[in-house]
Amino acid sequence: MASAFSHGLVAIAIGKLLRMSPVSIRFWVLSIFCSVIPDIDIIGYRVGIDYGDLFGHRGITHSLAFAGVFSVMVVRLGFPAVKIFSGGWWVFITHFFLVTASHGVLDAMTDGGLGVAFFAPFDHTRYFLPWTPVRVSPLGVRGFFTMRGWDVMVSEVVWIWVPVLLILGGFGVCRRIMERH
Ligand SMILES: [Zn+2]
Repeated sequence: MASAFSHGLVAIAIGKLLRMSPVSIRFWVLSIFCSVIPDIDIIGYRVGIDYGDLFGHRGITHSLAFAGVFSVMVVRLGFPAVKIFSGGWWVFITHFFLVTASHGVLDAMTDGGLGVAFFAPFDHTRYFLPWTPVRVSPLGVRGFFTMRGWDVMVSEVVWIWVPVLLILGGFGVCRRIMERH
């Protein structure tokens, strides 16, 4: 995994880029929740399910299919007033799908563990992106307070935080210029 901080940052960036409105605290809390929920599979890892298993770490909960099903659930339970299949519903679904799926994409940029089963349950192959600059994050909180934890934070700042903030800043500038003309 990349660290929960980076997953949360990407969730907020996606919401900002899609210019979601109205935006409530509930919306942002659910966004961050969706960005970290795939790591619920660590429970399976702890009780002895094999890493490479469908229910192992970076398995089914990191797949696009899971992101699809989970986004529908979150929108249904979190925003029951949004009418199913309405325009607003599709925007919400797109947002929560992208946020949940972004977790696997960040994990696939890390340099350790097994890859991500993006196409589970149809295809169990584990994938990495062609480029994996992010140091893999320790699973426990304690792991952060070590030299390796420091290494991970530096690589995430360089390869995730800086690019995400630059994209957000660039978008903000473009929008302001367009609004002025
Ligand atoms: Zn993960």
